[in-house]
Amino acid sequence: MKILKNIPFKLDTEAILKQLHLRNENKQLEKNIRELIKTALSIAKPKALYRISYIENKNENSLYIDGVKFTSRILRINLDKIERVFPYVATCGKELDEISISPDDIMLSYSLDIIKEMILRSAHNYLKDYITKNYKTAQLSQMHPGSLEDWHITQQKKLFSIFGNVEELIGVKLTESFLMTPVKSLSGMFFPTEIKFESCRLCPREVCIRRAAPYEPELVKKYLEKDLK
Ligand code: SF4
Repeated sequence: MKILKNIPFKLDTEAILKQLHLRNENKQLEKNIRELIKTALSIAKPKALYRISYIENKNENSLYIDGVKFTSRILRINLDKIERVFPYVATCGKELDEISISPDDIMLSYSLDIIKEMILRSAHNYLKDYITKNYKTAQLSQMHPGSLEDWHITQQKKLFSIFGNVEELIGVKLTESFLMTPVKSLSGMFFPTEIKFESCRLCPREVCIRRAAPYEPELVKKYLEKDLK
């Protein structure tokens, strides 16, 4: 298992202000957001961990990774011709949760949310590039437990069990409902693919800020029928 703690990141102040649709009329709010960005830059410590894991016992809708059974038809099909995967957890880091903002200050709270999301994205991209370069993999795709109905969120617990105490290692813990804190964390499996896999193409959720590709019901049918040739 490898832990990455010194992950570089940048925050583009103008891009954040643009995303907030701030017009020049609220100078005080803009000043507060600029201060918030400075604070985030000085305290954030994004982190990630991953393992090189091997796949065994592939069955119809399940498989074992490092001896842990995962049940998902889509994961099983995606890993059909693969022997090695990279389970991982990446986070914006719990340090940012120490920034205290009044719940009444909706714009500032929303700004902090955007900042955390950007830092999480930096950590996730850094980890993906790190694995690609160091293990000379083909292009990596990823799946996350809970992002599709087919791979239930309860399997977060199994994923975390591969690493041991993730909270001690990088400060990410699972709640009783299998969500992560800090909320701006991502867990999943990277795997090499010739054709990039996007969970979003199989996901019917209508409102999602992270959607990366349109929903394709026909592709869902193909996965269920295992007719992907
Ligand atoms: S649309 Fe959103 S919830 Fe659905 S798979 Fe994509 S990122 Fe996940």
